[in-house]
Amino acid sequence: MTTGIVYDDIYLEHRIGTHVESHLRLIEIMNFLKEKNVLEDPNFKLIEPRKATLDQIKYVHEDSLIREVCEVSQLAEKTNNIQYLDMDTAVSGKTYEASLFSVGGNLQAADEILEGNIKNAFAAVRPPGHHSNSYKCAGFCIFNNIAIATEYLIREKGFKRIAIVDWDCHHGNGTQDIFYNGSENGEVVMFSSHQDGRTLYPGSGFLGEIGSGKGEGKIINFPMPPRAADDIIITFFDEIISPVCKEFKPEFILISAGFDTHWTDTLTNMGWTIQGPANYLKRIKEIAKEYSNDRILITLEGGYEVDKQARAVYNCLKVLNDEDENLIQEESRTSNKELLTYVNEKLIPAMKKKLNPYWNCF
Ligand SMILES: [Zn+2]
Repeated sequence: MTTGIVYDDIYLEHRIGTHVESHLRLIEIMNFLKEKNVLEDPNFKLIEPRKATLDQIKYVHEDSLIREVCEVSQLAEKTNNIQYLDMDTAVSGKTYEASLFSVGGNLQAADEILEGNIKNAFAAVRPPGHHSNSYKCAGFCIFNNIAIATEYLIREKGFKRIAIVDWDCHHGNGTQDIFYNGSENGEVVMFSSHQDGRTLYPGSGFLGEIGSGKGEGKIINFPMPPRAADDIIITFFDEIISPVCKEFKPEFILISAGFDTHWTDTLTNMGWTIQGPANYLKRIKEIAKEYSNDRILITLEGGYEVDKQARAVYNCLKVLNDEDENLIQEESRTSNKELLTYVNEKLIPAMKKKLNPYWNCF
């Protein structure tokens, strides 16, 4: 069974000058996959995205946000100048169009998984989405791709339990906002691991943010100390994600994959290697195998060291295709003793205490 790769040149048309969230990110990924003959490999299938409908965008966004993206894109087109939705979030003449395809690429991949054409998928899309909430685009993000895909699966495909894993280095605050009170028609658990908000944008994602109402106990934040390496995310998986998923039994796993946790990424201060995300994905795949009929859809968020990101994406594709041993490895990195002690003796026990009222496993 094959692994889908969503890509189309429309994603390059969200063209925002010298901004770090550049079209070159995707060019580098696709060039590297070509160089490695991934696209000729019959185990991989290129998926052509479609446009999401406005009704689908409205599953999570207010009309005013959609109108703003459309109008600011038109202004950029008319003036032939990049415009801004906020200080960080730039828009070109084709941003609105590319954003509809960015969401739609994820929906198309979800459909192909459900139709049995592919086993799982990686959506190499942009603009990214996880910082945008219902009413505001932020942090290089336009429409919240993963949140819309989640609601799509619940509302149109009848899923009841979706797990979102966000491993971008920045807290997935937009996705968290959208699901803070849960989803009306299903249950959503969100696991976000990110560099501690005291040291990085957007400054949120602390242990106390656990959701409310129907969503209470289902927002699970893992604020990693700066310089944490690959070992610490595996601890999060083993101690928190695995027991929660055994209890929650997600029917579909959606991943917001950022590759800005790499130790060389200039926007962040983490210590992951290019094999770090793939090794984490191996564990997530076991959960998907057990409870989700192997259904995993990965959507691209951040990642600004383009050559490292391309290799890390390649590694994730290899894991999706069950070639767990065929990863490109760089020298392994481990967190220093002080960080390990903090995570094992303070952070994880504090998380378990917070989650204890909501999950029997704690
Ligand atoms: Zn990020």
